[in-house]
Amino acid sequence: MNRHDSERVAGILARAGWRETREAREADAVIFMTCCVREGAENRVYGHLGDLKTMKQENPGLVIAVGGCMAQKEGERLLERVPHLDLVFGTHQFTGIAELLEEAGREPLSMTGLNGFELGGLPLSRRESFRAWVPITSGCNNYCSYCIVPMVRGVEKSRPRKEILAEVVGLVREGATEINLLGQNVNSYGRDICGRPVFDELLREMDARFPNVWLRFVTSHPRDFSDHIIEAIADCDSVCEHIHLPIQAGSDRVLELMNRGYTKDYFLGRIARLRERVPGCTISTDILLAFPGETEEDFLETLDAVERSAFDSAFTFIYSPREGTPAARLPDSLPRQVKQERFERLQERLRSLTLESNRRDEGRTLEVLVEGPSAKNPAVLTARTRHHKIVNFPGDPELAGRRVMVVVEKAGLWSMQGSLAG
Ligand code: SAH
Ligand code: SF4
Repeated sequence: MNRHDSERVAGILARAGWRETREAREADAVIFMTCCVREGAENRVYGHLGDLKTMKQENPGLVIAVGGCMAQKEGERLLERVPHLDLVFGTHQFTGIAELLEEAGREPLSMTGLNGFELGGLPLSRRESFRAWVPITSGCNNYCSYCIVPMVRGVEKSRPRKEILAEVVGLVREGATEINLLGQNVNSYGRDICGRPVFDELLREMDARFPNVWLRFVTSHPRDFSDHIIEAIADCDSVCEHIHLPIQAGSDRVLELMNRGYTKDYFLGRIARLRERVPGCTISTDILLAFPGETEEDFLETLDAVERSAFDSAFTFIYSPREGTPAARLPDSLPRQVKQERFERLQERLRSLTLESNRRDEGRTLEVLVEGPSAKNPAVLTARTRHHKIVNFPGDPELAGRRVMVVVEKAGLWSMQGSLAG
């Protein structure tokens, strides 16, 4: 979502006559689009801002801005804490960014109203021509007790279906062959407009209109991941066979404290149903470790859920208290080394599950979307399978953005190696 926000801000600025540069020293303005979901993300922004201090001293005309979630959360406090900062603009302030930069050039400014905004018709400056991100909802109404997102992104709001489809038509015309639908909980799409979620209908409509596009979406919420949605995934050929379904924890006690709205058994039932209806589907997840008061028994429930879900990949986060959330008021007494030790035990199991999943692909011929030369080794191309796994293989950089068939030869943990088929 943050990456997409950057594309919007860059697009709006381009329309206003600004040009992008990769070189901070050449810039008239430097903008950080930020995340505040964990403390670590915020600390990194403070680090980057510190790095710009001398540049601002040498060039007082430089406008430094912080936008997005952290800006929304901190507001004026950011200006106080970082005296060489000029502009703080929140998650609903992107449309006016060009004017805000002008104003902040004269006097420091903080704009953080959560007054809503329309995405329809706003320009985008996309990083990749073949892959596109399309927000279908903004905000979140779930109020998971640990999470700052509803506070900084506002209430859930669905975009009209017509507006989404019009945007996709434009993206496909520009050459997009993979569309990623975005929202904090895409499964509840349409609830605020139609009185009931219609995400399954949106998937079916996208599939009918754009049968040759690979369709992905993040994030699904297990509570709202209905049979209707699973059936739509099973029926729609364009929907890729990979679902990101964050479990967060395996203990019912912790899930309740997290306000997630499901139990471990319910979650496992969703996974079973998905695997039954979409054979071979890969499943990734998010796990939030060391929620306040997490006991060894609670942790073992998470390990058990991981085992029984057989996730193909996972992101694991150690809980960090976020000011203003209900969980931040709970005593967080777990010693650091216990958190770290649980993190490592979990990682070890997750790594072997990922490796097993990748090894199952060895010898298979799979269709992939080529992203371009690999960042680590430009001699090979990097591509993704429909199952969202990375395959590297030797090939012509001209293939970037194209779909080709590759034979998977060797599975690793982070990626697989292969060669062009035929
Ligand atoms: N809406 C999505 C994404 C939320 S943020 C969802 O519901 O999954 C992405 C991930 O960050 C979450 O899945 C959660 O695992 C993690 N996260 C959220 N708040 C956190 C916190 N306070 N500390 C550590 N990780 C957190
Ligand atoms: Fe945060 Fe929960 Fe909303 Fe995801 S669903 S953004 S974790 S409150």
